[in-house]
Amino acid sequence: MKLYLDFEPCDECKTIMKDLASPEIIFGDEDLRKDESAKFLRHLTYNHSEVVQAVMKDLPKQKRSQEYDFFK
Ligand SMILES: [Zn+2]
Repeated sequence: MKLYLDFEPCDECKTIMKDLASPEIIFGDEDLRKDESAKFLRHLTYNHSEVVQAVMKDLPKQKRSQEYDFFK
């Protein structure tokens, strides 16, 4: 699932996003990837709560459209 976030990333965001996009993470093991994603989510929760709220608001919509695609 892809989320399109419209916000101004801070330096820490940029660092974590760079980590998440690095080959070690993308081709690394799943646990590591989960850890990094969780770290990013935690950072968003504490530092960019407006983003998390926007994501939460958007999630049910995305889920519905995915299910729709699936049954088409
Ligand atoms: Zn940030």
